[in-house]
Amino acid sequence: MRTTTKLYYEDQYLTECPAHISRLYTEAIELDRTVAFPEGGGQEADHGVIDTPVGAIRFQQVKRMYGLPCNIDGFRGVKTGGVILHLVHTDDLPLLARLDVGMPVTVRIDALRRAKLTLSHSASHFLYAAAIHHDFHLEEQTIGCHIKETSARFDFLCDGKFDGETIRRIQTVANSLIEQNLPIELGSLPKCPDARYWRYGGIEIPCGGTHLDRPAAIGTLNVRRKNVGKGKERLICEFPEAFADVRRYHQGLISA
Ligand SMILES: [Zn+2]
Repeated sequence: MRTTTKLYYEDQYLTECPAHISRLYTEAIELDRTVAFPEGGGQEADHGVIDTPVGAIRFQQVKRMYGLPCNIDGFRGVKTGGVILHLVHTDDLPLLARLDVGMPVTVRIDALRRAKLTLSHSASHFLYAAAIHHDFHLEEQTIGCHIKETSARFDFLCDGKFDGETIRRIQTVANSLIEQNLPIELGSLPKCPDARYWRYGGIEIPCGGTHLDRPAAIGTLNVRRKNVGKGKERLICEFPEAFADVRRYHQGLISA
């Protein structure tokens, strides 16, 4: 079965790699390997460029397709294998028509965007861990999350709404976890390398995203709520102190 090697799991600081075109679609390029993280687990996709023999082709969306279910408890919906499609910017579609399968290319991602998404994803886990600490029922009431460059959010099915005191408590717990600045550990289950987890102190969350090594770069988390319809609540975190430092904390990533 055809697969794309996910280099972002082997080394998440890698921002470019050589690859070969394994399949062409009317609006997308499939490669045998890539550093580009596809949209998934709430984290937005990387943006970047594929340098090809016919010119540079931009992509602003990356999707993972055709994986097979892992079927492991606690890793609901996780798929293994599959291929990764880089969706070509509309202006670059004429170049796509001139490519052939087997051509050598180089994939480069927007490293600053990746650094911001990485930081945001780690920040989201502290919000989530603090929310579950406040009420463990929220774990099974989680209906979605979205991790963007400047904020992250979780949606829950809830009858009531989070009051000011609850939000403050969740924010305090999240920030005290961040202040501990322990190592963030990432790993995967031996029987399914795509069933990945995030570990911090005693907390473990199934997650296939990219993360900081330690959380100090996040700075102080601000938490707020939003009503998103009857019976639904959204918790949003922002990290206004983070981005002044994001380049410094990702020196390896940015200078690569
Ligand atoms: Zn995650």
